Amino acid sequence: MATNLKINGERLWDSLMEMAQIGATAKGGVCRLALTDLDREARDLFVKWCKDAGCTIRVDKMGNVFARRAGKDNSLAPVMTGSHIDSQPTGGKFDGAYGVLCGLEVIRSLNDMKYETLRPIEAIIWTNEEGSRFAPAMVASGVFAGVFDLDYGLGRADQDGKTMGDELKRIGYAGEDDVGGRPVHAFFEAHIEQGPILEVEKKKIGIVQGAQGQRWFEVTFIGQEAHAGPTPMRVRKDALVGTAHVIGAVNKIGLENAPFACATVGMINSSPNSRNVIPGKVFFTIDLRHPEDATLTKMAAAVKSACEEAAAANRLEVDFKEIWYSPPVKFDANCVAAVKKGAEELGFENLDIISGAGHDSVYMSRVAPTAMVFIPCEGGISHNEIENATKDDCRDGCDVLLRAMVERANAA
Ligand SMILES: [Zn+2]
Repeated sequence: MATNLKINGERLWDSLMEMAQIGATAKGGVCRLALTDLDREARDLFVKWCKDAGCTIRVDKMGNVFARRAGKDNSLAPVMTGSHIDSQPTGGKFDGAYGVLCGLEVIRSLNDMKYETLRPIEAIIWTNEEGSRFAPAMVASGVFAGVFDLDYGLGRADQDGKTMGDELKRIGYAGEDDVGGRPVHAFFEAHIEQGPILEVEKKKIGIVQGAQGQRWFEVTFIGQEAHAGPTPMRVRKDALVGTAHVIGAVNKIGLENAPFACATVGMINSSPNSRNVIPGKVFFTIDLRHPEDATLTKMAAAVKSACEEAAAANRLEVDFKEIWYSPPVKFDANCVAAVKKGAEELGFENLDIISGAGHDSVYMSRVAPTAMVFIPCEGGISHNEIENATKDDCRDGCDVLLRAMVERANAA
């Protein structure tokens, strides 16, 4: 890799700050809900900047915007990058906009360096990632990836009953292109971490390996209600004592599968919940998360055994139900390696990390080799007007993105 590949950090920062004026709030954040006039203004600015950089613009039927910089062989599938420019009602300047403007900055920098990639490169705005005005989140990248169909996407309505389809027409971004269905050689997304890990670990770049899988359970222990005074300890059927055993076990299972496992009992209803009655029935929930399906399955089996042991030890009946399973997302090995290589070449302290939040990349990974670059955000705080990232971290994350994209864009 040519060692002189560099983006222009000042220009990236200036673009971020200019974009943040659109929908700027008094506390320094951004309120730019999907498909509002402010969203149109932000899109128009991005499109103008991309045209000035020589890009061809295409808009699809979900209003996703694709700015394309030609490669040496334009019959080859492009390398894409992008994120979103809609925000939460009290959002920050960096969530989404950082990834979109990194795409633009990569293109501007390649122009400056007169660097021609083999494959074309595209910088993207995905419509309505936040899911704040129109639920669900990530709906337009979801349509692109075939998770949702087009009619479903266009039919999403806000609280006033206005649909995405109508609002796209109103702001002039109901495009002609079919959504998805074309080959993508690789997709990258740069994003602030939205959590505290990079900052705590004093690392500059997060090499995102994927997103964690989740298994949710509901458990009910049935024992016998009895008087807390006359009932001897040995004969009790105390459903809450059984639950206490499981809560300890769940926590231990989380710790045993460090560093990525999360295991939580978050809700508990004890019945009759009276101070001098032995609890006869307890309902509680278990939330297990891990990026590896095999580990998640092992954790689930361990939790089930703990429930059975607790039931046997306390003479309880147990009802153990799995109510939700969301499989882990594993990003593409080549794309992740390209991000890692970029960070290493630049001498940046980096950390393998799993995304705790949803991103357009999670859906894109279903149809294209995908990876993400995380940069730290102050205090791990996001979805908040005080969300902050440093100019240096923004520059360095974009430099890693540039290298990863160029590496993949030169691959046959
Ligand atoms: Zn985001």
